[in-house]
Amino acid sequence: MELSKYIREFELCVKCSFCQEDPITHLPICPEAERFGFESYRPSGLMELARALAHRNIGLSEGLAKRFYSCLTCGACDKLCYSLTGKRPLNLFLETRRVLVKSGFGPMPGQLEATVNVLSTSNPYGKPKDQRFKWVKEAIPNKAEIVYFAGCTPSYYFPEQAQSTLKVLKAAGIKFAIMPNERCCGYTTIMTGQDDAAMDIVTGNVKYIKETGAKTLLTSCAMCYKIFNQDYFKLAGEKMDFEVTHTSLFFNDLVNENKLKLKKPISETITYHDPCNLGRLNNVYDEPRNLIEQIPKTQLVEMERNRGSAWCCGAGGGVKFAFPDFANWTAIERLKEAQSTGAKLLVSACPECELNFMDSLKTIDKKIKIQDVNQILAMSL
Ligand code: SF4
Ligand code: SF4
Repeated sequence: MELSKYIREFELCVKCSFCQEDPITHLPICPEAERFGFESYRPSGLMELARALAHRNIGLSEGLAKRFYSCLTCGACDKLCYSLTGKRPLNLFLETRRVLVKSGFGPMPGQLEATVNVLSTSNPYGKPKDQRFKWVKEAIPNKAEIVYFAGCTPSYYFPEQAQSTLKVLKAAGIKFAIMPNERCCGYTTIMTGQDDAAMDIVTGNVKYIKETGAKTLLTSCAMCYKIFNQDYFKLAGEKMDFEVTHTSLFFNDLVNENKLKLKKPISETITYHDPCNLGRLNNVYDEPRNLIEQIPKTQLVEMERNRGSAWCCGAGGGVKFAFPDFANWTAIERLKEAQSTGAKLLVSACPECELNFMDSLKTIDKKIKIQDVNQILAMSL
């Protein structure tokens, strides 16, 4: 089994549990451990299961697959373990998912369906392909050095977010294009270890991006950003001759260069949720906060767990497709934390987080508005 090459790394887990608690607030940090409780759902338990698999002391099973696919790939355990031991448990969990797929125990049915949808309709939701660009209300070029990749969730669920991003780009005088062949970045397929389908998606997208003449691919989705700037570089290698950036970085530079002016006040108390794929997995913490604070009259208040200690929204790692109840529970925990700050508006920089928060908000008696950072930027122009 391919896991045997990682035996030493699995054995270096000393079961210290440092990865399960935020060292500053002493609050839980791993949603999977917190939700399911048993050791086999904790990062240290996953390490032990993978070690036993690598040694062939146990075999693959559906129950074992469920434990690895309940990981949100939020990176909290990874960051903490790395700071203590220099080890990266998340990479090992993703390798185990690959083995599960190759052996027919993965992915989970909902994640497989998402991939089948991407390959047939270009989006994981199975929405009609010809409705992807319904949010576009004006002529936008198909070739430019800067290309805006809207992503599936804004295209189908949050057209107002994609339109807000266009409004901000235009206000700053940026010449940009959109990709006529845009299709899903492949986040769920890649993160669930479906390597063959992932290569198909990556190869197609890189070809389409190159056809636009892009030097910079711009996305407002934290998951797309993580996948393009980390996984695509690993999978497509030198063919990636364009850079990838998130709109919060791009717009923050424009504000600092005085090319983007945020003038209209928004008298709102705002709390910011760090998307795992932008924060912990990409170290982008300050820029979205700077943008919020540049808007006149906003007041930014922090949640107890913030920045590198943020609690996941619940949507990552393909969990929303496989275990919607667990995704929902994780989001509700975060919504309660957001509301306890007194903020009336929860802002994030990832449409996947926002979609999961909105879906979960409908199931509880809590009132807080949820918006993307680009929406409030567009309101302040
Ligand atoms: S912090 Fe690392 S070594 Fe400690 S229990 Fe977690 S995975 Fe194992
Ligand atoms: S990546 Fe997140 S959900 Fe997965 S085991 Fe680590 S802390 Fe838990």
